[in-house]
Amino acid sequence: MQNNLLETPIEYLKGVGPQRGELLRKELGIHKYGDLINLFPNRYIDRTRYYKVNELVPSNSEVQIVGKIIHVKTVEFGKGKKRLSSTFIDDTGEIEIVWFQGIKWIRESLKINVPYVIFGKTNHFNGQYSMPHPEMELLEDHKASLRSAMQPVYPSTEKLANKGISNKVINKIMQQLFVETHALFVETLPGYLLEELQFIPKNAALFNIHFPKSQELLAKAQYRLKFEELFFIQLQLISKNLIRKHKIKGHAFENVGYYFNEFYNNHLPFDLTNAQKKVLKEIRNDLGNPAQMNRLLQGDVGSGKTIVALMSMLLAIDNGFQACIMAPTEILANQHFNGISELAEPLGINIKLLTGSTKTADRRIIHEELENGTLHIIVGTHALLEDKVQFKNLGLAIIDEQHRFGVEQRSKLWKKNDIPPHVLVMTATPIPRTLAMSLYGDLDISVIDELPPGRKPIQTVHRYDSNRLKVWKFIRDEIEKGRQIYIVYPLIQESETLDYKDLMDGYEGISRDFPLPKYSVSMVHGKMKPAEKDAEMKRFSEGKTNIMVATTVIEVGVNVPNASVMIIESAERFGLSQLHQLRGRVGRGAEQSYCILMTGHKLSSDSKTRLETMCKTNDGFEIAEVDLKLRGPGDIMGTQQSGVLNLQIADLVKDKDILQMARHYAIKLLKEDPSMTKPEHQKLREVFIELGKKKNIWNYIS
Ligand code: ADP
Ligand code: MG
Repeated sequence: MQNNLLETPIEYLKGVGPQRGELLRKELGIHKYGDLINLFPNRYIDRTRYYKVNELVPSNSEVQIVGKIIHVKTVEFGKGKKRLSSTFIDDTGEIEIVWFQGIKWIRESLKINVPYVIFGKTNHFNGQYSMPHPEMELLEDHKASLRSAMQPVYPSTEKLANKGISNKVINKIMQQLFVETHALFVETLPGYLLEELQFIPKNAALFNIHFPKSQELLAKAQYRLKFEELFFIQLQLISKNLIRKHKIKGHAFENVGYYFNEFYNNHLPFDLTNAQKKVLKEIRNDLGNPAQMNRLLQGDVGSGKTIVALMSMLLAIDNGFQACIMAPTEILANQHFNGISELAEPLGINIKLLTGSTKTADRRIIHEELENGTLHIIVGTHALLEDKVQFKNLGLAIIDEQHRFGVEQRSKLWKKNDIPPHVLVMTATPIPRTLAMSLYGDLDISVIDELPPGRKPIQTVHRYDSNRLKVWKFIRDEIEKGRQIYIVYPLIQESETLDYKDLMDGYEGISRDFPLPKYSVSMVHGKMKPAEKDAEMKRFSEGKTNIMVATTVIEVGVNVPNASVMIIESAERFGLSQLHQLRGRVGRGAEQSYCILMTGHKLSSDSKTRLETMCKTNDGFEIAEVDLKLRGPGDIMGTQQSGVLNLQIADLVKDKDILQMARHYAIKLLKEDPSMTKPEHQKLREVFIELGKKKNIWNYIS
């Protein structure tokens, strides 16, 4: 049957053979017929139009002309250099066709006075058009060929091109594939879905993706194949999630007990926002089930994730379990420790901090208390992952700033107990919905999409370096009002030395412009010792200094509510998500806060878009969407390992709507037929299983 035919090794295809087969395998990963059929073109050249010679205009685009060669000659030019020149005519005029390579072979194979279709770019010189090295085909063959008006351009590599596997060759073997398989391919999507979504059948889709009959059919083919690709990925991700819920045991936190209730009823420092309540409910639901929770909690900076984390941990403690919270840096771990200790103070639970700088004696106590279960909550850095750290019964692991930890690190936490703890991953880096669906499709996602009340949106402006005096005046006024200021310099690896010079020059300039004793300026950067850094940070957070000059070391999580101005120097050198993170350092108190983006006058158009976006919105999700558009998914954190970039035809940015639709239908299908055993899902199931063996999209999460 057709299926088996698609398993045929590619070298058996007529026109391929062992040598080309080897190249196709190595260069494009095409091992068998079925791989070739799924090699989709990158783009199409429109060959719907035939030009007449007298219609040619000087331009850079490719044209095709029907005509014949009436004369061929070899012309010598320079020392020993030759070119082959022919006169090509139609009924409106003539052009010259030239070849510089393969002259002998071409000269022998050219047919005089026989109609050809030629295709290529033209040059224009002295009123005469010429076309070097055109693609040519006898008109007769052209008419008979399967090739359609929209000519596909396939992905290629330099090696393939050098070894003579041109686009034309790929085209030829693709035709051969359709001949050998009689262009019959088994439908993979259930009939009711085709009908409901008005998809063209698989056969027609594959045919038109390779040999589009028209723009319209091409569009239909692309639509269906994109859906199909995304649909199968979503099926994998979602079914994995379902399986985990059924199979991976978790601790059921059945009680909402003393600690949670006591805190909720008597010690909440503020009313929870609706978003916080909603998210807590989602988490509580998960925790109450005897299946492991794997939830991603997204919330912009300042949206109030800490209290959600604490209350989730209280549920663990109420059920006799321990909880941990892991942060990527010492500064952040410290802050979590302080914040959580403060909130939980009246509850009298045992909370400790474990980082690289925890003293050996304290460490020993912590290890002991974790093992005998008297330590309820441990906050820390990756120091928590050391083998020596053993829990009596870890029930909930919270991981902050997810993208800084790899998979292995996360699963290390799990392995500390037989039944894995529930996992809550918190991130302040909003991930566009579409990306989240693909990257974390097998995680459940909660979003805090509302800021606590009373926050004034940060006002953001873009100023040129030439306006610095005015900016400095503004700073003086703010300091006058008792506010504090951040001034951040870029620090980018490649030019580290230069960057430090910028930072130091900046610091000197600022110290001069804001002199003692009236002002005092702090500085923090990555080359300082942790103790020095902490001391400076402390001076600033205690209000002893007015200005903090820093590199991006302050990017993550630092909390100084009295700081109300963030100045970002050379803002054009920062990425959008980084700008947004930096801006999140202000706007934490009751005062109106400001973010000033300083740049020179020379700006690229992407830089301008970034700056405009920052000035226009404070919404992290909106910013993440723009970021995704500007940079593409490849540069967004976490995508590299995930394989979502190995999509054959769909594009996570452009095909957002299709992705959403694919996810919707995948969820629906699995709800109705979780094991895909209904007869109408038989083929679907086969493909699903086949894909499951091959793709490693979910390796990233585990
Ligand atoms: P995140 O970790 O999400 O960036 P935090 O948990 O640090 O945010 O909260 C930011 C600030 O907002 C903290 O000072 C916190 O006390 C305060 N906060 C959190 N939730 C609320 C709320 N519902 N109402 C008022 N203030 C809140
Ligand atoms: Mg936080």
